[in-house]
Amino acid sequence: MRSSQYLLGTLKETPADAEVISHQLMLRAGMIRKVAAGLYTWTPSGLRSLRKVERIVREEMENAGALEVLMPMVQPADLWEESGRWEDYGPELLRLKDRNARDFVLGPTHEEVISELVRKEVNSYKQLPLNLFQIQTKFRDEIRPRFGVMRSREFIMKDAYSFHLDQASLQETYERMHAAYCKIFTRLGLDFRPVIADTGSIGGSSSHEFHVLAASGEDDIAFSNESDYAANVELAEAVAPQQQRPAPAAALEKVATPHCKTIAALVEQFNVPIEQTVKTLIVRGAEKGLVALMIRGDHQLNEIKASKLPAVKSPLEFASDEEIRNVIGAGPGSLGPINLPMPLVIDRSVAVLADFSAGANEDGFHHFNINWERDCALPDVADLRNVVEGDPSPDGRGTLSIKRGIEVGHIFQLGKKYSDAMKVGVLTESGKHETLMMGCYGIGVTRIVAAAIEQNHDQYGITWGDGLAPFSVAIVPMNMHKSVRVQETAEKLYQDLVNAGIDVLFDDRKERPGVMFADMELIGIPHQIVIGERNLDEAQVEYKNRRSGDKKLMAIDAVVAQLK
Ligand code: ATP
Ligand code: MG
Ligand code: MG
Ligand code: MG
Repeated sequence: MRSSQYLLGTLKETPADAEVISHQLMLRAGMIRKVAAGLYTWTPSGLRSLRKVERIVREEMENAGALEVLMPMVQPADLWEESGRWEDYGPELLRLKDRNARDFVLGPTHEEVISELVRKEVNSYKQLPLNLFQIQTKFRDEIRPRFGVMRSREFIMKDAYSFHLDQASLQETYERMHAAYCKIFTRLGLDFRPVIADTGSIGGSSSHEFHVLAASGEDDIAFSNESDYAANVELAEAVAPQQQRPAPAAALEKVATPHCKTIAALVEQFNVPIEQTVKTLIVRGAEKGLVALMIRGDHQLNEIKASKLPAVKSPLEFASDEEIRNVIGAGPGSLGPINLPMPLVIDRSVAVLADFSAGANEDGFHHFNINWERDCALPDVADLRNVVEGDPSPDGRGTLSIKRGIEVGHIFQLGKKYSDAMKVGVLTESGKHETLMMGCYGIGVTRIVAAAIEQNHDQYGITWGDGLAPFSVAIVPMNMHKSVRVQETAEKLYQDLVNAGIDVLFDDRKERPGVMFADMELIGIPHQIVIGERNLDEAQVEYKNRRSGDKKLMAIDAVVAQLK
């Protein structure tokens, strides 16, 4: 590729609204551009890296025996009604109607569609086990899209779904997926950890997340210093609870901390069924204890929205229309201003009461992640929330340290949750009808590009490993437009590298060397070949390694062989 014919799009200045380094660098290196909150265009450089991630993911999924499919992003509501998630899924689910007023959703995940496929196509135990995957666009109306493609509303996920006659077969595929994920993240050059996730609602170690360690991560990971034990501190978010819960009154008695009492009071006040998982509460301080409150959670909250709040007179008065759209969306789950019995602030791991006059987030809102099971400490949920550095590990070996992680993958044993609801079964060898066991396995493909940058950058830009860089080699000719010799050497080297199948960017712009160097550093091209008059006297070029900064002279004739 020649720079002169390419859309480089590099920026000198750091865009003001980009909080984390990967978001800043992806904008500055010309990899993405924002279209609207949580919606991005991948520009040519960004797309090159994204495709490299996809390629590695696809290869390892195929190596692990999974078959690729491609399902639609738009999914009929009927399927979601069958699974029960038309009711259960919160406002992250974007619902829409077609011209015939039929209901559809933009798929945030594909258990329903894959179940529909498998129940039609698979009738016999002989066709099992089966593992199907896709690399496809998802939409989740995230309450707070941020950090660029790290938490966007539209993103690309690799999602796989496996089907089995029994638990042993599910376990085998689950372990194979675990191993495949380790290979994928290793090949991607990421410093990652598989961690136990969400054992609360299903039990055992039936769910693992894969986290890239980075300070900007949104999750806290507790590690043992003496064993492989690692767990997500934030438990029980993703699993739809299936087990028996205590009756509401009993659950209220378990509520130990003041903040939980407050939540309980809210729940009572709004007449929210106690089984509800109240996922996110956004509260904004206002005069005299009057606060604007919004609860995003499960569907029943939508229903109580208008009817159960006679006090609501006006729509929420948030800072601006833009903000209300970005942070809250116009979706269901919005409640009007109410009187809170007392102010509350809930940290991700510590609950405290606090004065509302204390500062809110920079967006003017107090953000709380509240999970009914977790925050109300039901006895059957292992509670890691109060873990601090130095606590004993739960596996009993060593003590815990806590680091931040970015969730890039999540594997899950679903059991019969969907196959029961959607009647996915086969005839067994003895002619009996058997409902299938299911597993699901997700990887955040677009998020990985950002996570890799969080781990690989310096003051000049991105320091890609060979695997994900948009180009592996840059040719940087010095004053090419003044020297025929430099130009001819650069052109020939470019052809030779292209012929050798190497991804090369030939910076043939009429730019000052300083500008070219800065751009190549920013984009993070791992190997840079600088061609200048002086070294050509010795038939040499200068090689620079982006990551180490090491420079050395190389014979022109040796370049292709060295870089292959
Ligand atoms: P998170 O906890 O970050 O919201 P999740 O647990 O909701 O993620 P899963 O349902 O487990 O996500 O989806 C599988 C993978 O998809 C995640 O591990 C993550 O890498 C990716 N992913 C999920 N939500 C987003 C998003 N909003 N933007 C980019 N990638 C995402
Ligand atoms: Mg999520
Ligand atoms: Mg998660
Ligand atoms: Mg997850």
